[in-house]
Amino acid sequence: MKIIGVDIGGTTIKGGIVENGEILLFAKRMTNIQLGIEEFKKSLFAVIEELLDETEPNCPIGISSTGDINPLTGSVIYATDSMPDYSGLCLKKLIEDRYHRKTVVLNDSLSALLGEYIYGAGKGLKEVVMLTLGTGVGGGVISNSKLLFGKEFRASRLGHTTLYKNGRPCPCGKKGCIEAYISAKGLLKTAEINGSNFFDVNEIFTCEDHNLIAKIVEEFTNDLISVIENYNAIFDPEVIIIGGGLIMTTDFWWDRLMEKNQTNIKIVPADLGNDSGIIGIAYLAENNFIEGE
Ligand SMILES: [Zn+2]
Repeated sequence: MKIIGVDIGGTTIKGGIVENGEILLFAKRMTNIQLGIEEFKKSLFAVIEELLDETEPNCPIGISSTGDINPLTGSVIYATDSMPDYSGLCLKKLIEDRYHRKTVVLNDSLSALLGEYIYGAGKGLKEVVMLTLGTGVGGGVISNSKLLFGKEFRASRLGHTTLYKNGRPCPCGKKGCIEAYISAKGLLKTAEINGSNFFDVNEIFTCEDHNLIAKIVEEFTNDLISVIENYNAIFDPEVIIIGGGLIMTTDFWWDRLMEKNQTNIKIVPADLGNDSGIIGIAYLAENNFIEGE
């Protein structure tokens, strides 16, 4: 069956028509939530409506979203200030009222993990941890073939566990979170501390200053391997998948990370790239994975 999968991020809303883990047609708009919640809704509806005509009338819709999401109610429990007025929004009701199609909603990192678990680097396994290294750091855990949610669907916030006590400030309000170091923003901060300012991480890795690149790679891989070792100790997974936008830069740091992997933890890059959220949420829209059926 063809399913509509939509991935709501802080910058863009991406959607696709998905069939058996393959994206057949893409749509994309700016998230525009900084312009107000009504502008955000226009963008979301535009993505869905671009895809809607190409599907059957009973086709379900899956929404993968940034923020803490209650997958049972389909509402946003909490989102940071980068998504103003987003906390409390019931995405499920918004979509079902407008399109009269069954709608499921899940956090974006968990959607990406689900995509990898069903179709990608975690296929066939039962114990999978994923870290998504993008603008921020997200994560997710599948234990005994089930997504780990916690008491209020706020488990697996792997990016906001502490790496350095009283370290760099994090957008979540705490200090020293993993996200403040091993995300794109974290790498830009490391460069800044070393005297160089860049706008995006690609500029860092393609700059002329090879000593600076080596220093940043060294700090980044030291931090990342510490994080991986911690999650390995907590969850004892069969594999730890590294996804998110930073995997586009693995040419510059993956080998160094592997050299530091002294305990032979199985660490692999995500198979589905940045499409794993759309593919994962489309799977969820067709299969009742949340309640473990
Ligand atoms: Zn944090």
